[in-house]
Amino acid sequence: MPLLADVIVDVPTLQTNRPYTYLVPDELSTVVSKGMRVIVPFGQGSRCIQGFVVDVRHDELPLDLDIEMKNISTVMDANPVLTDELIKLGQDLSHLTFSFQVKLYQTMLPAVLRATYTKRFKIIDDIPEDLLWEVFKGKEDLEWERAEELGVLDQAIKLVKEQKLSIEYDVHDKKNMKTIRKVKPLLSFEAYAEIKESLSLRAAKQKRLVELLQQAGKEAATVASFKEKGVSTAVINTGVEKGWCDIIEEEVYRDPFASTTFTPTVAMTLTDDQKVAYKQINEAMEANRPDVFLLKGITGSGKTEIYLQSIAEVLEKGQGALMLVPEIALTPQMVHRFKSRFGEEVAVLHSGLSDGEKYDEWRKIENEEAKVVVGARSSIFAPLKDIGLIIIDEEHETTYKQEEFPKYHARDVAIWRGDYHNCPVILGSATPSLESRARATKGVYTLLELNKRANNQSLPEVSVVDMREEAKQGNHSTFSATLKEELQKRIDLNEQSVLLLNRRGYSSFVLCRDCGFVLECPNCDISQTLHMDTKTMKCHYCGHEEGIPSICSSCSSRSIRYFGTGTQKVEEELKELLPDARIIRMDVDTTRRKGAHEKLFKAFENKEANILLGTQMIAKGLDFPDVTLVGVINADTSLGLPDFRSAEKTFQLLTQVSGRSGRGEKEGKVIVQSYNPDHYAIQLAKQHDYDSFYKKEMHLRHISEYSPYFYLIKLSVSHENEMTAAKKIAQYLDFIKPALSDQSIILGPTPRSIARTHNRYHFQVMIKYKKEEKLMAKLHDLLSATQKEQSKGVMISIDYQPLDFI
Ligand code: ADP
Ligand code: ZN
Ligand code: ZN
Repeated sequence: MPLLADVIVDVPTLQTNRPYTYLVPDELSTVVSKGMRVIVPFGQGSRCIQGFVVDVRHDELPLDLDIEMKNISTVMDANPVLTDELIKLGQDLSHLTFSFQVKLYQTMLPAVLRATYTKRFKIIDDIPEDLLWEVFKGKEDLEWERAEELGVLDQAIKLVKEQKLSIEYDVHDKKNMKTIRKVKPLLSFEAYAEIKESLSLRAAKQKRLVELLQQAGKEAATVASFKEKGVSTAVINTGVEKGWCDIIEEEVYRDPFASTTFTPTVAMTLTDDQKVAYKQINEAMEANRPDVFLLKGITGSGKTEIYLQSIAEVLEKGQGALMLVPEIALTPQMVHRFKSRFGEEVAVLHSGLSDGEKYDEWRKIENEEAKVVVGARSSIFAPLKDIGLIIIDEEHETTYKQEEFPKYHARDVAIWRGDYHNCPVILGSATPSLESRARATKGVYTLLELNKRANNQSLPEVSVVDMREEAKQGNHSTFSATLKEELQKRIDLNEQSVLLLNRRGYSSFVLCRDCGFVLECPNCDISQTLHMDTKTMKCHYCGHEEGIPSICSSCSSRSIRYFGTGTQKVEEELKELLPDARIIRMDVDTTRRKGAHEKLFKAFENKEANILLGTQMIAKGLDFPDVTLVGVINADTSLGLPDFRSAEKTFQLLTQVSGRSGRGEKEGKVIVQSYNPDHYAIQLAKQHDYDSFYKKEMHLRHISEYSPYFYLIKLSVSHENEMTAAKKIAQYLDFIKPALSDQSIILGPTPRSIARTHNRYHFQVMIKYKKEEKLMAKLHDLLSATQKEQSKGVMISIDYQPLDFI
C-alpha cells in the first residue's frame, strides 16, 4: 500500500480546514512525519506552497479519485515542529475561534518558522526576442519584483494569460540558527610534534597554529580564540589545506539575558494562607487532576511565591510548567524572580526579543533543555511535552485575548492543555474577571483566597479628590492642591511617587477653538494624535502622518490648539509646579526602543527619579519599596467608553495601581482625581472592596443581559464600498437568524464606532445568547458559503466573546 500524508495547506485565497492527501515519494518515506512542514504542489500548474502534515498512513488510494494524486515535493524540517497535542489543539481551536487551522499552526510557531513566498515568472513557450534577451537575459526565469522594477510587469502578466510564461511560487524558510566557527584538531599529539619539527624557521605562524592544535587535544576552540592568540584566518585555512585541522560550524543559542546576573533565591516559609492554597494545588498535581484554581489574592499577598513553589514541585516530578504574564516588558521583576529561582531552566518568550532570540528560546523548550516557560500570550503554545502546571497571572487582563486572527483567548487554551496533560491550571489575580469569579461561584473553578499582604503591611489608604470642586475654587491645573502637596512631601522625604495618566480612549488632538474643527485622519474616521517629539500629527490606526496645522482648514482661524492631556504635557506642567522633581516619563513614545522599559524601571529603582509618570504600562506588577504615593490623574476617562466592561476595567486599573503603593516598610497612600467621585467603581476601589464590586456589577450585567449571564458573538463585515458592506451584513444576518431562538438578542447591524479605517467601511452586529445549539455550526456554514465573496474583497470576521468594542 502506498504511503499517504494528509496536509493542511496554506493557500491564501482558499482557506479551508480540509486536509489534502499527498503521496509520499519513496525517497521521503523515512523522512516525512506528522507535525512537519512540507512543500507541496497545489492546484493547476506547479505552484508550490507550504503545508503541515497532520497524518501519515499506509492506505489504498481512494478509488473515486478524478485527478492524479500529487507527490510531496520536499520537507522543510528535519524534525516535526508540531507535536500531536498541538495538531489536535489547532483542530479544536479553529472551531472556537472561527479561524483556519493553518493560521493557528502558524501562530503556534516562532516567526522564523513562518514561511514567506516569492513569485517569479518562468518561460514555458516562445516569448518575444527582445524580452528574452533584455529582460530575462537569456535565462529561464525572472523574479516578480525584478519585473516590477523593470516596468515589464504588465507585459509579463499578458504573456501569462497567453500561456507563454507561468507564475511560480517559491517558499522560503526564514529559519536561521546562530552558529559559531570553531577549529577542530584532526591529528594526534605526536603527529603535531613531527609537523612542528619539519616546519622551517620562517613558518613561525604555522608553528604557532600547530602548537595551539596540539594543546587543544581533541577539543574544538573558536576561530576567535585562535585570532586572539595571534593566528589569523589565513593561517588556519592553510592548516585546513594541509589536513591539520578542520573548521566546523557549531550551533549556539542566543541568550538575551547573557549580560544579566541573577542572585539565586530559595523558597520562603509560606504564611498560613499561602499554605492552604499551596496544599490544594499540590494535591491536584499529585493526583494528576486538571482542576482550575482561581487564586484571588490582594496585591502583595504572595501569589508569585506560590507559583514559584508549585513550579519547583513540578520540576521535581520531571515535568515542565507554563507561566503566562500579560506583557513581559512591563513585568521585568517577574522574569527576574523566575530566573533567580530556576536559572537555566527558564525560557523567556516575549515581543521584545529579536526573531532569532525567540527561535532559540523556542528550541530550548523543544529540546527539553528549559522546562519553565515564562511568557506573554502566545507562549501558551510553547512546545513543552509533559506539562505539570499552567499559570496565568493577572488573568483578568485583556491582552490574553488576541484581537487579530486567530482570536483565541489564552485562558481557553490553558484549560484545554490542562485537560490534555491532566494537570491543574492556576488563574491568579487581585481583581478576577467577572466571568472567572462567577465560574468559581458555580464550582467550575476552585476558589483560593489570600486576603492579607505577605509582609502583613496594610493596603494603602485611598482618597478621592473631586475635580469639579477644584475647578469651582479656581484651580484649572491638572493637579489638585492635595496631590501637589503630597508629591512635594515625597520629594522632601526622598520617597518616591507613581503617577498614572489614564489614557484608555484618550488622546491629544488638535481642536479649533473658533469653529470646533478637529483634525481627522483622511483614511479613518478618528482624530489624529499630536506627537510633540516628532512635531507631527499621527493616526494610530493606519499610521498616516502629517504636519501640525497652524491654521484651521475649515474656518481659517489661527486659534487652533491642541487639546487633551498627553503625558508630555503633564510632564511639562509637573516640572513647572514642582521645579525640584526628577521625573521619568513612560509612554509609547519613550519606550519604543528595545529594552527601554527595563532601562526606565531600573533607573527608577536606583532612585534616579522621584516621580514615575506614565500610562497604563506602569500599573502592573511593579514592586518598588520606596514608593509611598500613587496618584491617579484622571480616573474617569476609561469610564466613558462605549464598552459594557468599562466599570470593571476602571476598578481593576485603580486597584492595580493602588497596589504599587506602600509595598515596603513605610505606609503608602493613594490619591485618585475624578470628575465622577461617587461612581461605584471608584468608591469600591477606594475601599479595596472587590466582593462588593463583584456583587454590584453582576447585578447590573444581569439587568442589562451581558456577560457572564449571556454569551456574545460579534460578526463584523467590511468593504471598500459603504453600501456593499451594509448590504452584506444584512444578508449574513438573515442567513444566521434561522439558527436563533427568540431568547437571543440581536444588536445592530450598526456602523462600528470608528466606521472607516484603512479606507474600508466596517459594520457589526452583536448576538447575545444563553443557549443556541445550532449557532456555532451556522456561523461556520456562513464562513464556507462566503468564500467567493471573501476572495473578492468582503472581509468577514466572527469573534466569540469579544473584548474589544471600540
Ligand atoms: P503578589 O504576587 O500576590 O503581588 P508577591 O508574591 O509579589 O505577591 O509578594 C509580595 C511581597 O511579599 C514580595 O516582596 C515577596 O517577596 C513577599 N513574600 C511573599 N511571600 C512571603 C512569605 N511567605 N514570607 C515573607 N515574605 C513573602
Ligand atoms: Zn476653525
Ligand atoms: Zn488612519
